Amino acid sequence: MKKIVIGIVSPCYNEESVLHETANELSNLIQRLISKGKISENSFLAFVDDGSRDDTWKIISKLTEENSHIKGLKLSKNVGHQNALHAGLMHYHRIADALISIDADLQDDIGVIEEMIDQFKDNNIQVVYGVRKERSTDTFFKKNTALFFYRLMRWMRVNLVYNHADFRLMSQKIIVALSQYEEVNIFLRGIIPSIGFSSGIVYYNRQERRAGESKYPLKKMISFAWEGITSFSNFPLKVVTMLSFCVFALCILASLYALISLYFTHVVPGWFSTVLPLYFLGGVQLLGLGIIGEYIGKIYSEVKKRPKYFVEESLN
Ligand code: UDP
Ligand code: MG
Repeated sequence: MKKIVIGIVSPCYNEESVLHETANELSNLIQRLISKGKISENSFLAFVDDGSRDDTWKIISKLTEENSHIKGLKLSKNVGHQNALHAGLMHYHRIADALISIDADLQDDIGVIEEMIDQFKDNNIQVVYGVRKERSTDTFFKKNTALFFYRLMRWMRVNLVYNHADFRLMSQKIIVALSQYEEVNIFLRGIIPSIGFSSGIVYYNRQERRAGESKYPLKKMISFAWEGITSFSNFPLKVVTMLSFCVFALCILASLYALISLYFTHVVPGWFSTVLPLYFLGGVQLLGLGIIGEYIGKIYSEVKKRPKYFVEESLN
């Protein structure tokens, strides 16, 4: 039987402090799986340098010289985690039966990679999601914002795998399907489940970041969530419509109240009943315009079909 080729793809942005350790552990794992006869000799580990400003690329090039299982891909500038990962998947899927994506900081437990490969090999499962069991090592803030993120996404009708980030095995079939999604605003956690085929889950405990600091500050996290919602759901547009119905009902009530008070009291209704609805309606209209504008902005970037990344250099 032909042995399967597995590639582990890891996007790196300013990860010089953790890269050696990551490369070490992952290449040891690959070596172990090769000796066990589970995967082919041609299996590899690929680092995608997402326009880092530190010595990340220097380290990657050195690693590729020392270890023939390690490959490196340098992008022309920082394009963000999702695009960098996409670049890696597109670049390497033709030479592997399946690719496994994992963050460079080793927060995801590499111990379950073997289980992922087993599911793919033995049961012919096309996507295996790594799902976090608990988040005890995350800060209180990170844990709760992440929980809120999943709730919000569900509420917005975005189909996500709960507590799954970008640690997953994807077969070549899945990545070929992914390559047919031409959208510019890619949100892999939403796209992959929408492709279909058979899927499986492995559970693991999320570790603390080995070194360096999180490249997802609150601002990036919010924009990531917003990206996910507006790329996958028209629900916010519906909210605007619903809101306008509510306001309409409120206005009818307010007019009734104004009429009644005009009839029973001798006070001419004052500025309150005139000015307040004015502000209120102004606000609602602006909100509606804002949300519609967001989607139009999205359409704008989609119709331009600009390339998502450029490869500057590819090693090994
Ligand atoms: N990353 C990237 N480009 C970016 C930001 C992050 O390639 O613009 C990579 C980063 O090097 C890491 C992964 O994406 O491998 C996840 O980032 P991080 O660990 O900082 O996020 P967190 O785990 O805190 O959500
Ligand atoms: Mg991390």
